[in-house]
Amino acid sequence: MMPLYGAIEAGGTKFNCMIARSPEDIIAETRIPTTTPHETLAAAIAFFQPYASRGELVALGIGTFGPVDLQPGSPTFGYITYTPKPGWSMTDFYSPLQRALGVPVAFETDVNAAAYGEHTWVEANRSLDPFVYVTVGTGIGVGTLVNGRPLHGLLHSEAGHLLLPRDTDLDPFDGVCPFHGACLEGMASGTAMNQRWGQPAETLGDDHPAWQLEADYLALGVANLVLTLSPKRIVLGGGVMQRAGLLQKVQQKVRMVLNGYIHTPNILANIESYIVAPGLGTRSGMLGAVALAKDLGKIEA
Ligand code: ZN
Repeated sequence: MMPLYGAIEAGGTKFNCMIARSPEDIIAETRIPTTTPHETLAAAIAFFQPYASRGELVALGIGTFGPVDLQPGSPTFGYITYTPKPGWSMTDFYSPLQRALGVPVAFETDVNAAAYGEHTWVEANRSLDPFVYVTVGTGIGVGTLVNGRPLHGLLHSEAGHLLLPRDTDLDPFDGVCPFHGACLEGMASGTAMNQRWGQPAETLGDDHPAWQLEADYLALGVANLVLTLSPKRIVLGGGVMQRAGLLQKVQQKVRMVLNGYIHTPNILANIESYIVAPGLGTRSGMLGAVALAKDLGKIEA
């Protein structure tokens, strides 16, 4: 019998759960509302349990909102740590799943999982390293692969909170990040757009000046990622990025911000194949968690 992999994409409003072997071979899926940790984790366990008790489930991959403790050996490894999500601070996510299902568990941030999914399942990305995935939605998150593995280190990348230069005459908005005000997430997340313009981003017309300003901030963030991580490709995903034309605005502005300094064909001539939309659409994180489960031994080796 072919082994099955479990996957959880854990978000602030819902947990997407899946049993699959690959994107082409999905066995079951469900969506669980994010309520209390106890209730939500119990519902997730109940979904996977039958496959585990039949011995079909061989590993589970988790890509979760955070911040999280990814440091093996830490007393709070596998926890969601100090999150603004009410009731979820210092929640042990890893152990209850691992104990109940009795299979190895890969535990990652949602954006590292998405990066891993894009890198694993999208043929054109497979050899590209380092590799970066940026989500622009309610918040902004950045997942990074180096040598084919999710980058951890001190904590994990928090490049959604990059600090940007700003012109307060042009844009007096103070930003919405409770920690930094006008960081990248504070200025360019869906939440920031909503507050700045007094209406949800998805209701702003294509010709609204909001979109050029949005592209300008995102381009500063992306340019800083190019300068620090030297990625071979950057994927821009998330709800806000689904706006037609926004990706192209970001590509153009990144080239302007870098101003010829990064003198490679990727930036100068082929930026449309360097800064790209997700190959897996809105499923990068979910399918990334499947890939993390499948490659668990390889990643930890
Ligand atoms: Zn911030």
